[in-house]
Formats: sequence, C-alpha cells, structure tokens
Amino acid sequence: MQPETVGIMANPYIGIYFISIIFMVIGMIVGGVLKSRMNKYASIANSSGLTGAEVAQRMLRDNGIFDVKVTSVQGFLTDHYNPANKTVNLSPYVYQTASVMAAAVAAHEVGHAVQHATGYQWLKMRSALVPIVKIGSGMVLQLVLIAGILLVNTFPGLLLGGICLFGATTLFSLITLPVEVDASRRGLAWINQSGVTTGEEYKMAKDGLRWAAMTYFVAAIQSLATLLYYIMIFAGRSRELISEKCELEYGD
Ligand SMILES: [Zn+2]
Repeated sequence: MQPETVGIMANPYIGIYFISIIFMVIGMIVGGVLKSRMNKYASIANSSGLTGAEVAQRMLRDNGIFDVKVTSVQGFLTDHYNPANKTVNLSPYVYQTASVMAAAVAAHEVGHAVQHATGYQWLKMRSALVPIVKIGSGMVLQLVLIAGILLVNTFPGLLLGGICLFGATTLFSLITLPVEVDASRRGLAWINQSGVTTGEEYKMAKDGLRWAAMTYFVAAIQSLATLLYYIMIFAGRSRELISEKCELEYGD
C-alpha cells in the first residue's frame, strides 16, 4: 500500500474536511462576486421600465402560459419557480423594481415555468430525483456515511448504501446544471427580443445570470469530489480487506 493511501485510511475525515474547506472558500468567492454584480445591476434601470413581476407576467403570456401565478417571497436572491403549485416566486426587490437585475432574474424563473409547461426532459429527471434527495441531503445521510466509515470492516454495506444515496444527490446537482443554463437561455432570449433590456443592459443581465449559474457549478463539482472521495475510501478499504484475507488464507 502506498504511504499516502495509508494516511487517508488512518483518518478518512481529513480528506472530507479538506474538500469541504476548499469548496467553502471557492463558494464564498463566487457567492461574493454574484452578490456584488447583482447589487450593481440592481441599481441600473432596464429600458422597458417593467418590474420583475411585470416581466414575469408578460413572458408567461408570450409563451402561452396562463396557469402560473407570480408571487412575492421574502429574502434576497430567494427567487424560484415551484412546479408543485405552479408559482413563480420572486424576492420583494425583484418583484417591485424595474432594474436590469430584476428583469434577468424574473425571466430566468419564468424560463423554469416554460421548461415545466413544455415537458423539458432535464427538469423532469430533476423532479424525479427530489424524493431521494430529500432523504439523502440531511443529517441522516451524514450519520450513515460516518457510521459507514467507522464500520467499514465489519459492515461494508452501510458505507456502500451511504455512497449510493450520496450518489443520487450528486446526480441531482449535476442535472441541475443544464436545467439552470437552459432557464437562463430562455429568459435572456425573451428579454432581448421583447426589448426589456437593450445593448449594455442585455450584457449585464447575461453576466449576472452567468454568475448565478456558477454557484450551481461549484456545488456540483463539490458534490462530485466528495462522492469520489467516499468511493476511494470504500475501494481502498475493500482492497485492504482482500489482501488481509489472502494473507490469512495463504500465509502470503
Ligand atoms: Zn433557476
């Protein structure tokens, strides 16, 4: 066994902490840039003078969608589309103001509503994974993984089960990427062709949404790195067990 593998096996948590800290820092940097860009674009009025709520309503109507409601929810950057009750939920700022940022965010959320109405495949797949992810994203999974590492010699199935559940959450975060990129593409196309944003404003809207997508990208890569690390622990431990067994059986 190579020395570095021994180090990881001696304390598997070090690697997990390492991955968490690195991605926490990257996440903070990307989140910081996103906030500062969005704050900047929030102070620039869009050419149409339409508020986020009006942008959302018009884009829905232009796409022939009449059964989706536009509502306001608390918070900053809390905007989301809820397919369960067909609502475009906009943060108070986005809902009320006629800025470039508000138009971009509102159009992005309606992009999700359009995906839902047109049966966009990646959104369907993402929705199908929601129940599994609900089990897999909380404390229960963390406990299963910790216990799985501790008991890997006596009960390797536990870590394997934890890895499968975690794998589903990783898959979810990867499928989220095309869903987010596509919603932005639909939103940007609409605000461009409808003249909500023009010239420089459009570039700003595009830039803001690109940074929003970047946060999903970082989360997906973090999830993938963590998953691979758990697989490495499991594979390393299995290899070790096999060689121990061989030594016992053949005295090799
Ligand atoms: Zn989105």
